[in-house]
Amino acid sequence: MDADILVIGASPAGVMAARNASAKGCKVLLLDKKEAAGVPTHPANTFFKGMFDRTGEEVDQSYVIKNLKGAYIIAPSGKNVIFEGDAYFLDRKKFDEFYIKQAMDAGTDVRFGIEVLNVLRTEGGFIVSTSKGKIKCKLVIVSDGINSRISGLLGLKPIKYPKDIAWSLEAEIEAEGIGEPDLFEYYIGNHAPGWKSTYSPCGGNRATLGMYVRRHGMDVSDFFDAWLERFKKLKGLDDVKIISKSVGGDPIVAIPGEIIADGVMVVGGSAAQSGIGYGMHAGQMCGDVAAAAISKDDTSKRFLSEYRRLWNNEYRTEYYLGRFAMETLRKMSDWEINGMMKVFEGEDLTVLGGSPFNQALQVSKMILKNNPSSIFSYRAIFRMK
Ligand SMILES: Cc1cc2nc3c(=O)[nH]c(=O)nc-3n(C[C@H](O)[C@H](O)[C@H](O)COP(=O)(O)OP(=O)(O)OC[C@H]3O[C@@H](n4cnc5c(N)ncnc54)[C@H](O)[C@@H]3O)c2cc1C
Repeated sequence: MDADILVIGASPAGVMAARNASAKGCKVLLLDKKEAAGVPTHPANTFFKGMFDRTGEEVDQSYVIKNLKGAYIIAPSGKNVIFEGDAYFLDRKKFDEFYIKQAMDAGTDVRFGIEVLNVLRTEGGFIVSTSKGKIKCKLVIVSDGINSRISGLLGLKPIKYPKDIAWSLEAEIEAEGIGEPDLFEYYIGNHAPGWKSTYSPCGGNRATLGMYVRRHGMDVSDFFDAWLERFKKLKGLDDVKIISKSVGGDPIVAIPGEIIADGVMVVGGSAAQSGIGYGMHAGQMCGDVAAAAISKDDTSKRFLSEYRRLWNNEYRTEYYLGRFAMETLRKMSDWEINGMMKVFEGEDLTVLGGSPFNQALQVSKMILKNNPSSIFSYRAIFRMK
């Protein structure tokens, strides 16, 4: 099983890295401790076309369960704004299988049911211990998800603000007609400190409910239970059947830290590159640079830093702006969030594209036009909390 490149973890990012490096002629081995693609299924199962388009891939309807038209963002007062845009609820198992097949077609040797236990540096590469024996490789791509154990073994801290991982609980639910609506619903406010609760319809009588919380520990079940009760009242439901529950961490504003070292690249959730589409795009960059490193026989940190440079150019500003906005939201009271939402009510939010400067300008115009006093809500930026 020796390889030029060993990818640890079949996350969306890891699979893309493996596919791209294989397509450029490298001998790539992708290992995952799961028994098969999508088993167990990861709870991340939705995305917006606008984000996915950054990968340059086409959304394939074979893995889409439901096409949606966007999302409501809902304030504690119940007032909402709509973000319009194509969005998808995925059959995550089919989605994983689709991209694993692409990696295999490109030449990746994909093996499930193998856990990587240890990674040791040697002259010119690594010796990797797994549950099924030892492997030699020249370069390691770490894609083992949030709380990356392998990065720790290699002495890396790939997440800059680990305390800001949003710990989450997502439940698949069943109730009459609950899957029918065409928009996701994201509820912000102090009931979900630091991020949001969600309702994602996936057709017929099925939907998911999610709770994402920052800085209140990893167990968010109390927050989820309160959200479920509120949801039942909001939708006038006497009973909601819980089909399954999943927990995990979303590094939405945790920001990539040390993601490269000599012979090592970290990608996806393990590198705080949150989101399916954004993770896949980072995986493509990682795989391309890894392939160039193998062909030039130079796996030094210096050479691999091209991956960091590409990611910085594309995403750094966006991730830091996102963090700034979410930190402000985390510190706001419900009253301040309600005031802020009035600014966006009835506005065409599609104008909020383009450069960060353009977006700031558009938001400033809306504040002045709709609710100038809401500017005081933003004093939360300076609050210590
Ligand atoms: C509840 C929840 C819901 C979310 N919903 C969405 C969503 O709807 N849309 C969205 O874009 N993002 C969502 N996210 C964000 C999500 O974190 C990312 O989009 C992405 O799916 C995370 O993938 P990952 O890179 O962390 O790796 P994962 O998909 O977790 O993959 C890591 C893989 O590594 C394997 N592995 C780990 N250790 C080893 C080892 N030692 N040896 C071998 N294999 C190993 C694991 O088995 C696993 O398959 C959600 C996050 C959570 C927690």
